[in-house]
Amino acid sequence: MSLANKYRPNTFDKIIWQDHITHILKAQMKNEQRNNHNYLLFGPRGTGKTTAARILSKAINCLDLQDGNPCNQCANCSTINKWQTFDYVEIDAASYTGVDNIREEILDKVPYPPTQLKKKIYVIDEVHMLSKSAFNALLKTIEEPNSAVWFIFATTEIHKVPETIVSRCQVFNFKKILKETMTPHLQNICNLEWLSFEDEALNLISDISEWCVRDAVKYVDQISVFGSISMENVSNFLGIAGEAMIKDFLELIKSKDREAIFKKIDEIHDQWIDLLQFAKQNIMYIDKNIMSDIDFFISVSEIFSEIIATAKYYPYPTILYKIAINKFLWQNNQVVNYQEPVKQENKIKENKTEESVVTETPISEEKNQNEAPGVESKEKEILNQLIEKVESKTLKDSLRDHIFIKNISDWKAYFVVINKIAEIALNRDDTKSNLEEMISEIVWENITIDIQFQSKEDYFSSIL
Ligand SMILES: [Zn+2]
Repeated sequence: MSLANKYRPNTFDKIIWQDHITHILKAQMKNEQRNNHNYLLFGPRGTGKTTAARILSKAINCLDLQDGNPCNQCANCSTINKWQTFDYVEIDAASYTGVDNIREEILDKVPYPPTQLKKKIYVIDEVHMLSKSAFNALLKTIEEPNSAVWFIFATTEIHKVPETIVSRCQVFNFKKILKETMTPHLQNICNLEWLSFEDEALNLISDISEWCVRDAVKYVDQISVFGSISMENVSNFLGIAGEAMIKDFLELIKSKDREAIFKKIDEIHDQWIDLLQFAKQNIMYIDKNIMSDIDFFISVSEIFSEIIATAKYYPYPTILYKIAINKFLWQNNQVVNYQEPVKQENKIKENKTEESVVTETPISEEKNQNEAPGVESKEKEILNQLIEKVESKTLKDSLRDHIFIKNISDWKAYFVVINKIAEIALNRDDTKSNLEEMISEIVWENITIDIQFQSKEDYFSSIL
């Protein structure tokens, strides 16, 4: 059995960090204060909502309640533990979103009394995923009091659950599990399993699990194969960096030595460190230490936010780091004439630089990209309208800085992109089709987009 299953709590007392909830639930079970039969459990992923729902279901039905906890021994507890009853139903709403499914699975069966258990219980996980009509059908059911049927809803996104449902439930807010609680929990499991461990390694696991106990225990399980939960095994197995490496890296950025930073990025990558995880770790480190160097940390955190935001569209994380860091260095050197790349055409012509494409080049004071010669005004106007229309800030910025409309003819808009990341983002199906829809609305024709990549230099030489 995996450690995650073995140590999954089966009583309220074993749930960590949610005492404010388990105390109330236990009291309700003991005192049979059971007026409202609908529960809504919400909170981040991995905080114990589904586990609590299962324990609550057993407690409601338990024949031998132990101080409000289910006994896990009686006939009713074991039937639920072994999934041997139709009176206890767990549904993941993500796969049953439609009204027909909900009706078939639940609502049609509600009027029938339980066959084995004291109460029939429906647990609907990720309930916010239900369709509007499914919610309406559900609402009718929970409005009619039926003391033999209990609903337990769980969700990570309570704001997507209709107020009409929320207001008919007892709502419980599950808290994020802090490292201070998570690490001792992991220590405890290691002790029970006779696993040797380093505290620092367990701290690191707590950090990267982002409050999810299940993930943390799963990592301990996986790393235990190597013998011990040591720093070395953790970073080798999970591809994560130790705190010293993060600290050094941030200091290197502060030194503004671009060459050394770039070299370091390659080194880190060569050590099989997961660079996306590394970006997240840097943010966590910054968050934790922000007061020690507040201005630097706030500005440097933008590098990592940018990396995290773009990483999933881009297969080469090292260049992503270099682009983001390069931009950061330019901005923080306070290069007064740092400007958007689009305004630099004259400079490039006179003085073709050998710098890589990632280098932002300083240029004139002119503010308006629309002054760029050679670009037809109709296309500029359409591009501007497009910039107005799109909602995503990143896409807005890309359209402003890295994307041009060369021309529009025969129902085709020819886009030129001068930045690789922007090209990848633009080529995503949904982005492209959204833009096509918008352009079509602007010009009142059915337009498709053709995307072409050109280096900055080539593009600006071509329009001169
Ligand atoms: Zn029991």
